[in-house]
Amino acid sequence: MIRIDEGICEGCRICEKNCPLGAIRVEGKLAVVGPGCASCNVCVRVCPFGAASRAEDEDARHAPCSHCSVGCSIEEGHSGACTRYVNRGGRIRRARKLVLKAGRGGPAAPKLPPEPLTTAVGAGTNYPCCRPAPYIVEDRFEGADVVTVVTEAPLSYSGVKVKIDANRYIGEEGARVKRDGKVVGHVTTEEYGSKMLSIGGANLLSHGNDGFVVARTIVDFANGRRVKLRVEGGSELELQHGHPPVIDGEEEALMRVGCGSATVGMFPEALRAAADEAIVLDYHVIGLLTEHLAGAEIGLVHSGVVPRGVKSSRGRYFGNAGIGWGGTDIQSPLDAIASVDMAVARPGMTVLVTETTGQRCALLRLRENGLFQEIPLTPEAEAAAALIRGTCEQACVSVIYTGGTGGSARAGVTKTPKKLNDAVHEGRVRMTVGGAPVFLLPGGGINFMVDIGRMAEDAVTWVPTPATVAPVEYTMEKATYEALGGHTAHIITVAELLRQLAEAEQEQG
Ligand code: SF4
Ligand code: SF4
Repeated sequence: MIRIDEGICEGCRICEKNCPLGAIRVEGKLAVVGPGCASCNVCVRVCPFGAASRAEDEDARHAPCSHCSVGCSIEEGHSGACTRYVNRGGRIRRARKLVLKAGRGGPAAPKLPPEPLTTAVGAGTNYPCCRPAPYIVEDRFEGADVVTVVTEAPLSYSGVKVKIDANRYIGEEGARVKRDGKVVGHVTTEEYGSKMLSIGGANLLSHGNDGFVVARTIVDFANGRRVKLRVEGGSELELQHGHPPVIDGEEEALMRVGCGSATVGMFPEALRAAADEAIVLDYHVIGLLTEHLAGAEIGLVHSGVVPRGVKSSRGRYFGNAGIGWGGTDIQSPLDAIASVDMAVARPGMTVLVTETTGQRCALLRLRENGLFQEIPLTPEAEAAAALIRGTCEQACVSVIYTGGTGGSARAGVTKTPKKLNDAVHEGRVRMTVGGAPVFLLPGGGINFMVDIGRMAEDAVTWVPTPATVAPVEYTMEKATYEALGGHTAHIITVAELLRQLAEAEQEQG
């Protein structure tokens, strides 16, 4: 149950605004906990005055939910904080039936060749855009006439997303990223186990004289070249698609399989064999074995050790990002422990401290005076770290090229660019870039993302407008192309294309 200390509460309404169940109301100048409170602790965490606390005494109308580390105590006829579980007759049940199908359907996709009839790499651009695309090629595929239209489209709206598998801190989210002192992008939100950079984009490409270095950087990344960058207030990076990242001169070896809590959740038995307690350090969530639900699952009770970090939920603590162990600011394993309750802990107990990649680990022993000392690793501790290491992947840099093909870039394909948008989104036209399939962003326009590892070699170039130049291919049934108002008079067969190319080669000697 949640209790509010009337002498402390200021009636500021912060808990009322944050309660996921709307179970707290401020009446007069005092927070009042109403029916339906699931003791999820949100109010305890957000109250700036410490007026809310969780008392363990629950009445018989409540039942505990153990489906996540929050540990709600759900009242009969009500739901837990996430609204996914309810208490029905004292039993915790799913609130919603399993949804078996969610397909929205759509028109049947036409039979198209798995790859475009030709890529647009080397095709060139016909300018101005009202002129037909450089190559419009037709062939037969499974009994139907198909057409591929290709053009190298200059795109002001373009950039790369660079995914860096790394535990190490590289800089603040939003920090500017520079190449040779010029701003070329920024650090964006992390993905699981990876830091992310956004490089380029229309604004950086278009403003000031630094657009050229921005365009060059996008193209270098998109063509798989090595690029050196510096994050403002952060690290020096050396990055290349398909290679391990180099951060501040050190090559990152492993990518973690999970955060500290996930690691505890996966390997509680191995951690228990290694020590009486285990702390898995991670820049996002630090895991504490004996308090974690996975520890309880194998019969452990909380050891009294509290790790450094801000408690999120049972056995899970938010770490501070830094250049220490597991990407936290903890530089020494002894600093991983914030406190120990000597009424619970016993002298001589051991604590394993490890990173989520298992690359660094240490064993600590509690002394009579309540302080820990580091002791040599036992074979069991070595084995637990090796098990964690063995689940990690090789750290790698991956580059996604992004762009938006504007109306003018589509005009060379058809006289009705809007119809092309619809056909691409409906799957009647397959779009590829440098021969690679794209992920289309939903909604208007043609905004795409493409894995550069699947594109033709050296596929992207740039023009000093500045803009990058994307080799874009549209493949469709010939009947579709006619219906879109395509430049059908300019269609040539694949045989004719090959003849033209051979002739051009001969001319060039
Ligand atoms: S957040 Fe704290 S002080 Fe503010 S109304 Fe809630 S219990 Fe009272
Ligand atoms: S799964 Fe939902 S209801 Fe259950 S403890 Fe977690 S937040 Fe509460």
